[in-house]
Amino acid sequence: MHDINEAKKTSVVAGGAGFVGSHLCDALLAKGERVICIDSYRTGRAENIVALGNHPQFRMIEADICNIQAIDEHVGQIFNLACPASPPHYQADPVHTMMTCVQGTANLLSIAASHGASFVQASTSEIYGDPEEHPQREDYRGNVNCTGPRACYDEGKRAAEALCFDMLRSGKVDARVARIFNTYGPRMRPDDGRIISNLLVQALKGEALTIYGHGNQTRSFCYVKDLVAGLIGLMEVQPNPSLPVNLGNPGEFTINELADLVLDLTRSDSKIVYKPLPVDDPQRRRPDISRAQALLGWEPTIPLREGLRMTSEWFAYTLRGEQENLGPPLAFAQCLEKAAAEL
Ligand code: UDP
Repeated sequence: MHDINEAKKTSVVAGGAGFVGSHLCDALLAKGERVICIDSYRTGRAENIVALGNHPQFRMIEADICNIQAIDEHVGQIFNLACPASPPHYQADPVHTMMTCVQGTANLLSIAASHGASFVQASTSEIYGDPEEHPQREDYRGNVNCTGPRACYDEGKRAAEALCFDMLRSGKVDARVARIFNTYGPRMRPDDGRIISNLLVQALKGEALTIYGHGNQTRSFCYVKDLVAGLIGLMEVQPNPSLPVNLGNPGEFTINELADLVLDLTRSDSKIVYKPLPVDDPQRRRPDISRAQALLGWEPTIPLREGLRMTSEWFAYTLRGEQENLGPPLAFAQCLEKAAAEL
């Protein structure tokens, strides 16, 4: 058991072996905090945290948040990032996605209440659905299809927000909610299925780039290091904003523009193939981040071209590691070394 002073510096990162979660673990450890990572490895990967295995302040608990009832040491902060976030992944087992958002978040909130821990919920721009207001401010209530294939995630995350604000209003948990817009960077899975990993991997392999629809839809992409700074800022800010906070990069690009940038950066001569647009695919998305700027003093610093270059180099290392049969841990270790120098 750790003493209470040490406990104040202990954070739980649920989903800590995932893409964003593993970067958050790194950042918290770099601040000198103790980190307990909880991950079921459904979409998270052991390789993402392989470098932390021997860190004296790092502890891994393999568990599904739908089943977790308690943590056997005192914790001061809980970040809930445990949920598949890529449409093909969260739609693969939609009932489990919904339960992860609802039951999993309820379990972690109950643990936070019993420890007196502060809580940051990773919510999402999907709260806004296919938005009719642009850019999206936090007071916009969204345009979500509650019966479509994205509903397991969109409605699950909306329910999780409701749980957080109920626990806050009842004085049980110091809960905070981040609405995260599209995020990218090293440690995305090559088979993640989202646009940036798909395009970079396709370009690097010389395969055709897949664009869904006409490619005129827009997204705003935030580099993972910027996002992690925002999540930590939201956890630490006093007083609790008591309102959801958008975290994302307001730079807005069409998918066609992104594909051109990827081809340019990777010097690839891959062709582009157009495929049908998925059901309920949002047409435009850009965060209004004035709340994060005002309350957290936060805004992203890494432009898309620069972030894409770092991510592209990382994917190139990973793919080379696969080709040379280095095995994921070694390929990842090399990537981490390179990424750490840049991050
Ligand atoms: N998309 C695409 N090609 C791909 C993957 C995605 O054109 O290989 C499109 C997708 O239809 C959407 C946008 O890129 O309009 C962003 O999709 P992503 O899955 O990255 O995230 P979303 O913002 O939809 O959750």
